Amino acid sequence: MKKLIVNCPNCSKQHDYYQSKPWSPFCSQRCHLIDLGAWASEEHRIKGQSISSVEEAQENSEHSLY
Ligand SMILES: [Zn+2]
Repeated sequence: MKKLIVNCPNCSKQHDYYQSKPWSPFCSQRCHLIDLGAWASEEHRIKGQSISSVEEAQENSEHSLY
C-alpha cells in the first residue's frame, strides 16, 4: 500500500494517510468528529446571519422607495 504522510486538518499532527480509513485525512476518528461538529455549527451560524442580513437589506430597500 502506498504510504503518504499528511497533516491532520484538525490538530495538524503528522500521520500516515490511508484511504481505507473512514476518517481520513484526519489522524483519528475523534479529530474527524470534532471537525465535523465544528463545520456543522459554523454552517448553522452562517445560515442564521445570512437570513437576518437579507431581511435587513429588503427592509432598507423598501424604506428607500418611499
Ligand atoms: Zn488529529
